[in-house]
Amino acid sequence: MVKINPDRLLSDLRTLASFGKYKTGVHRPTYSADDMSARRWFAQRIEEAGLRAEIDGIGNVYGFNPTKSRLALAGSHLESQNHAGWLDGALGVVYALEAARAISEAPGNADAGLDVIAFADEEGHFGSFLGSRSFIGDLTEAEIDSAFNHSFGTSLRQALAEAGLAGRSRRVIDASRYRAFLEAHIEQGDILESSGMKIGIVTAIVAIWQYRIVVTGEQNHAGTTTMARRRDAGLALIRLLAAIDRRFPEVAGPRSVWTTGQIALSPGAKSIIPGQAEALFQFRDADADVLTRLENELTTVIREANSAGPCTVTLERISASRPAPMDANVQDVLESAAEQYAAGQHVRMPSGAGHDAQWLAPKLPTGMLFVPSIGGISHHWTENTSDEDIVLGAQVFADAAMRVLRA
Ligand SMILES: [Zn+2]
Repeated sequence: MVKINPDRLLSDLRTLASFGKYKTGVHRPTYSADDMSARRWFAQRIEEAGLRAEIDGIGNVYGFNPTKSRLALAGSHLESQNHAGWLDGALGVVYALEAARAISEAPGNADAGLDVIAFADEEGHFGSFLGSRSFIGDLTEAEIDSAFNHSFGTSLRQALAEAGLAGRSRRVIDASRYRAFLEAHIEQGDILESSGMKIGIVTAIVAIWQYRIVVTGEQNHAGTTTMARRRDAGLALIRLLAAIDRRFPEVAGPRSVWTTGQIALSPGAKSIIPGQAEALFQFRDADADVLTRLENELTTVIREANSAGPCTVTLERISASRPAPMDANVQDVLESAAEQYAAGQHVRMPSGAGHDAQWLAPKLPTGMLFVPSIGGISHHWTENTSDEDIVLGAQVFADAAMRVLRA
């Protein structure tokens, strides 16, 4: 059977963490000098593994077997959030590389191979899943023209030019080449750790439904306007959000989550009763029926608030993505591999975070594997996973890839 090399795996992960090192994490925003050095280093490691490697016009690093006929694709992303962890994304690309090496070294595998991909900008410094969407043919030149860096305002075109990527063609998937797409990732939560599990098998990547809630009242003097007369939009919004939080558990699924990420009061001064209040609100679930129930409940709570007065409330849906179910057969394969190396220590679970795999899922049978995050911490420089768990996850991942190729 296929056997990974733990020292080579950990050494590659530590080398990758030296690009843009920040405390015990990394600062490697998309197309920064450190990000591009990491991409060139990764391309070189792919070539050393006997694959061909290219960095395409959106910065995706694509490694492919020129001669193998039975193939799967594996990967994740290389850049990080600002001042964030060393494993988010990096773990998945190095797992893919190590699995590709282990499969090519395994005896009796002359025609089987794993192609490797490191997507660009999963973390959304410039846009929404630029790399994986480019790879499936979903990213237009017009969208590239209009995208800019959310922290610094640099245009995407300028960033691509400075990274030496301007004018390069963008690689688009040939889905007929592959049996499956596999992505490994740190869990970024504490389900695995708190339940003593070592491997998570992702059932679906959640959908995110986002809304703007606007409450209109009456702007007035905070001292002279009696409590009976005032129409305080700020207070009405806070009451509404509390009502949503009370009512959602009645219709939510076991893993539904809802968040008010931003509240703005207008005009926002200490002695003025807010005339308008606005909230950005979102919920997530992997089940389309649950999502619909949550939206219906949201609409109902707002209708009740409107009939109770004294303010008026409007609801605008900003976006509503679809849940991305992972392929049932690939889930079974991941589970069999997990049972072999971590018997009784694996669990099926939805992903509450978005991943490149959600864009590959409509194109290829797709599966995701999670390893535990210490303390459930991610998007922070203290993010970590024990070496033991990293090695175990890589072995399960490589074994699952081999099972996909053998099937
Ligand atoms: Zn990630």
